[in-house]
Amino acid sequence: MIPVSSSSVQFPAQKSHMNRSWQQLFSESVLSPEQLIERLQLPPESLSDLISGNRLFQLRVPEPYLNRIIPGDITDPLLLQVMPQIAETIATSGYVTDPLQEKSNNPVPGLIHKYKSRILLITSGACAVNCRYCFRRHFDYQDNALSKERIQQVQDYIQQDTHINEVILSGGDPLATSDLRLKQLLNSLEQVTHLKRVRIHTRFPVVIPQRITDDLIEILTASRLKVVWVFHINHPQEIDPLLTEATKKLIQAGMPVLNQSVLLKKVNDSANILAALSESLFDAGIQPYYLHAFDLVQGASHFNVTDEQAIRIWQALQKELPGFLLPRLVREIPGRSSKTILNTDI
Ligand code: SF4
Repeated sequence: MIPVSSSSVQFPAQKSHMNRSWQQLFSESVLSPEQLIERLQLPPESLSDLISGNRLFQLRVPEPYLNRIIPGDITDPLLLQVMPQIAETIATSGYVTDPLQEKSNNPVPGLIHKYKSRILLITSGACAVNCRYCFRRHFDYQDNALSKERIQQVQDYIQQDTHINEVILSGGDPLATSDLRLKQLLNSLEQVTHLKRVRIHTRFPVVIPQRITDDLIEILTASRLKVVWVFHINHPQEIDPLLTEATKKLIQAGMPVLNQSVLLKKVNDSANILAALSESLFDAGIQPYYLHAFDLVQGASHFNVTDEQAIRIWQALQKELPGFLLPRLVREIPGRSSKTILNTDI
């Protein structure tokens, strides 16, 4: 196997984003195909493909993430995650707009209840980066916006079900919302005495590490609810010194940091890359947790890795890693009471 590790990745010189606030970096993100081509020196002939894909799901990439993409390399695994493609416009049989059937588990707008002990909140409809393979790329965020009144409805819903002990803040990305709103939400959740934990599912610290501020840490550590982070990192090239620094702050503040990845064709569909990812995550203080089999969302069929391929890759990965660095290979199957661990014995 050829070793791949984040330490062997040469990041371009850090640009002016170093001293900018996360709000500035978010608002200055690259949002158009023309900007992406210019910033990353991509072949001009790719413009029409980018424009086609972009019509269905808008491109968004902030500078700290762009800075980790190798300019001019159309096969860069980070670029492939964010670059619109003409393949997105092709309707593929078996691919749907709501692959996890979340609409049928949506008792209160903004709240998804699939599993007995936890509920998920669509805390924000925005993300720091728009990932082309996102299983919520067709999600109706407008109808699920968490207004002040709805936060009260959410509180009431959790209050009447004592099985729920954990709330997952998701989206979109929960960190796209302001500190003040997060604080108000936490204050509301804290009123429910049977709640123990808040889990934050986010890609923000990965793509804009500046989002992890002392103020945010203060708000989270002041809560009586235990906070657990679940990052979303798919490739070792996504781990840079700024992310490592941000992670260190969270861990020092007493908050565990886990990672979930999605298995994606041409991005990370090899045991070699996934082994390097687990090693780099651990070096950064992040615990590998889940490796998700790809969800069949319409517009993203070019990322699909079949379950059989996924299992073969995972088996090869198992030979490379100690057990504590091996993520669980899972698929979410609508209607089941937990995630399904794929049968790795075939
Ligand atoms: S950050 Fe998460 S929710 Fe947002 S587009 Fe990417 S995968 Fe989807």
